[in-house]
Amino acid sequence: MDNIRLDEAKNIILKKIESFHSGSDLEETGSVLSVGDGGANVYGLDQVMVREQVGFADGSKGVVLSLEQNHVGVAILSGVGHVCEGDSVKRLKSINAMPVGEALLGRVLDAKGDPLDGLGAVATTEYATIEVKAPGIVDRQSVYEPLQTGLKCVDSMTPIGRGQRELIVGDRQTGKTTIAIDTILNQKGQGVICIYVAIGQKSSTIAQIVERLKVAGALSYTTIISAPSTDPAALQFLAPYSGISIAEWFMAQGKHCLIVYDDLSKQAVAYRELSLLLRRSPGREAYPGDVFYIHSRLLERACKLSEAKGGGSITALPIVETQAGDISAYVPTNVISITDGQIFLESDLFFSGVRPAVNAGQSVSRVGGAAQLPAMKKVSGTVRLELAQYRELEAFAQFGSDLDATTQQTLKRGKVLVQILKQPQYSPLHIGLQVAILYAATRGYLDNYELSDLQNYEMGLYGELSNNHASWLDNVASGAPLKDDVEGQLKTILNNYGERFVSECQT
Ligand code: ATP
Ligand code: MG
Repeated sequence: MDNIRLDEAKNIILKKIESFHSGSDLEETGSVLSVGDGGANVYGLDQVMVREQVGFADGSKGVVLSLEQNHVGVAILSGVGHVCEGDSVKRLKSINAMPVGEALLGRVLDAKGDPLDGLGAVATTEYATIEVKAPGIVDRQSVYEPLQTGLKCVDSMTPIGRGQRELIVGDRQTGKTTIAIDTILNQKGQGVICIYVAIGQKSSTIAQIVERLKVAGALSYTTIISAPSTDPAALQFLAPYSGISIAEWFMAQGKHCLIVYDDLSKQAVAYRELSLLLRRSPGREAYPGDVFYIHSRLLERACKLSEAKGGGSITALPIVETQAGDISAYVPTNVISITDGQIFLESDLFFSGVRPAVNAGQSVSRVGGAAQLPAMKKVSGTVRLELAQYRELEAFAQFGSDLDATTQQTLKRGKVLVQILKQPQYSPLHIGLQVAILYAATRGYLDNYELSDLQNYEMGLYGELSNNHASWLDNVASGAPLKDDVEGQLKTILNNYGERFVSECQT
């Protein structure tokens, strides 16, 4: 009996020594060195890769964020229990992935891809890694198709093209989300798939947005990734990458996508929180050194693919919140330098009733002009110029009482334009209607009306065009330039409508 026992013991010891030499088990498990709220430093996972998933002894999952010299930094994704110092950690040998496919449309998911809308599991078998390299320069082409927001002030002065990255930046409560949601609503029937990534917002705000999209019939072509402020910082950090991996799947099928990141400042804050917990050295504004890189590698993935690659596109509308209009803070300057332009919203304008509160002087679109419809291009040149002249005169005109006729004319024209560029939320406009009203405003058709009459004029004109001149609207939307016949027809429509409007006003 004794002999057999000795043999067994010997075999076990020999096996242990063998496995020690091959090192297989040891490299796959490590132990928690230190742990904080949402992050842990782990010792001993020598072979682990960045973005690989790991499992903790208590059942929680984590994702490797950083590889340091003697340890790795892990963000804890889900807390089913409590991770403690000394706990064992296992490599799961899978990279973070998201479900992708048509089945995601109309769904609300968290950053891990789990459904939040109570509609059951997502019916797809395809998964995509959430961190991939952006398409190279050879696989891309310049943007040339417009992505209409349906907002007069944006489509005219900062036009967006499919495949462009346009930042929406402004203080809190200045209408940033509204611009993005209006753009999503305006994609109805345009064949553009929308992805809205909500980061660090209140769950109730996200629920309202979902409801708004549902009521407007926009949820059927939209996916929502929700990482509310109650989620662990790791999920808030990962949500944008989860979102774009879904968009990339559609882009690879040759489709057009629009992705909104609402907002990247909260994502940067989540990343800072994690990095400080993992004891990475803080830099400017206490952000880790690679905060620029997390945004650039995200936004690089939005592009217009070449025809050889199917010609799909991802248009990105990142949102960044500023403090007291300071666009020179760290995160806003970073994202401004990565994107192709910015829409700058201002509290002063917002509170003075100019909504959307776009500051035309500081907003730009560096590439969208190439994608603007010819008719819109023609009217928009004048819009910018006249607004700039108005702003210049406005300050100085406050002091002078007797102004010459030309100055008075410029001021009146500017006031008309500012009034016309206002737009209520959730009511995106057909591009043809935008061209018509901006043409009327910049060519003097509105100069003789009181500012208070303009809203009625506008509504009436939209009704007239939609009911009686649908072919003219289609013509403009299909890219007809605003000259010869098309311009002539518009002049006739405006003249006839103007006469009727005046007689209606008098009665
Ligand atoms: P936050 O910083 O809280 O995310 P935000 O900048 O995203 O705010 P919104 O939530 O879009 O701003 O809008 C703020 C408020 O302004 C909302 O109550 C919204 O209804 C109102 N609002 C936004 N745009 C318009 C508009 N064009 N016309 C009228 N009201 C508007
Ligand atoms: Mg918002």
